[in-house]
Amino acid sequence: MKDTYLNLVNGPLKQVAKTLGLPQPVELQRFDSTPESYRRKPVLVLGAGPEAQKLADMLLENGLEVRRHSTSGESLRAIIAVLDDAKTPTDLSETVLGIGSALRSLAKCGRVITISMAPDAQNQDPELAAAAQGITGLTRSLAHEMRAGSTANGILLDGVDLQAPSVATALWFLLSGKSAYVSGQFVTVSSQEGTPVRMEQFLSTGTSGPLAGRSAVVTGAARGIGAAIARNLARDGAHVIGVDMPQAGQALAEVMNEIGGKTLQLDITAESAAQKIAEAVGGPVDVLIHNAGITRDKMLANMDAARWNSVITVNIAAQARVNAHLSEKGLFADGAQVVSLASTSGIAGNRGQTNYATSKAGVIGLTAASAKDFAHRGGTINAVAPGFIETDMTAKMPPLTRQVARRLSSLQQGGHPVDVAETIGFLASAGARGINGTTVRVCGQNMVGA
Ligand code: NAD
Repeated sequence: MKDTYLNLVNGPLKQVAKTLGLPQPVELQRFDSTPESYRRKPVLVLGAGPEAQKLADMLLENGLEVRRHSTSGESLRAIIAVLDDAKTPTDLSETVLGIGSALRSLAKCGRVITISMAPDAQNQDPELAAAAQGITGLTRSLAHEMRAGSTANGILLDGVDLQAPSVATALWFLLSGKSAYVSGQFVTVSSQEGTPVRMEQFLSTGTSGPLAGRSAVVTGAARGIGAAIARNLARDGAHVIGVDMPQAGQALAEVMNEIGGKTLQLDITAESAAQKIAEAVGGPVDVLIHNAGITRDKMLANMDAARWNSVITVNIAAQARVNAHLSEKGLFADGAQVVSLASTSGIAGNRGQTNYATSKAGVIGLTAASAKDFAHRGGTINAVAPGFIETDMTAKMPPLTRQVARRLSSLQQGGHPVDVAETIGFLASAGARGINGTTVRVCGQNMVGA
């Protein structure tokens, strides 16, 4: 759905919006729309430790322009702050104040990325834990302060160092237009798994893309976010098997014809769903995206059993059963990667959505609890929690509620289905195999709830 307000405040009403102090969301630079001039701008790497220099060298090897000190007047594409060596909160000041003094040089749709140790209160020295946890507060607050489509996110090192391959993959994702609508979030790298991927390959498409040669099943692929996921995974080189209800068969066929994919008309709640999926793939399932989902909103006081049960059955019980069946029957490929659709409602809760929020919080729980099982096969399972995304689902909202929902995020606009699809493509790629059991929000740092 079109965001008319965004177009107006970037066009004829620009001055009026400025004078009245109204929100002025900017058009985000997404993967396909990122201009070459932006790609060529330098990246500033801050941090006094040896890891910061190693990271700067790695970026140089990947063809990026790198600076170790900010030079006044030079526009920056990104600021990367390496804070993995902070032992106490007082150790943070030099690098953090360095970010502050470089912020005005950040280009439109620029990036700030912090890299630090994952907070682990159980196993860390108290001051070390304070520094680690402090960096999460810093990054989230900074994301609220960003302007002109810029974002701030963090990479957390959970028992790994900066050389873990998925750290580089996370950087390529966060630096690129693929993460345009991700802000105030953390990507946790928790193992050395993952194929090392150069930035060029991560940003390539087709037969040299990050999913080249892999098959990918996408449920609910006939429209909305599912159709965008199918298109993106195909763009990145995957052979896509699109699944949707028989009633959506025509729309599904159109999407699959467009991308050279295969259709599977199937209700994912059917007892035989996992078997049908494996048959359609024609071999072990490699990439599986659990996207199909429904809403049946009502206050709990007015909730009938049909509304409650249908949402739980489609959104969580069906995917739990499919995963369990594929796992038990050995139908997942070695290195299989699964990504499920959660929702910010499952994190923050939402009025009128007890059923939906239960199912989506359930997805987050299922994902975290299944990580070990997938790791045994060298694979991963992760979730993506979208906030307000412009789809048929959100087009049904009352106009005023829709306007408020759009503006109540740090990026002051709704996301596009492609934003969710890009994050899923990243988590499903071989370079991201060191990221497991996590949930990444794609919500423009939505301010409602969490
Ligand atoms: P949508 O309603 O536009 O599309 C969902 C698709 O899933 C449809 O094609 C539908 O036919 C299919 N589907 C539903 N039940 C099915 C079943 N039993 N078997 C097979 N297919 C089935 O929804 P969307 O907005 O594109 O959302 C996609 C996913 O993202 C959902 O899981 C949703 O909960 C989640 N999500 C969406 C938003 C948003 O703002 N749109 C926000 C957070 C999470």
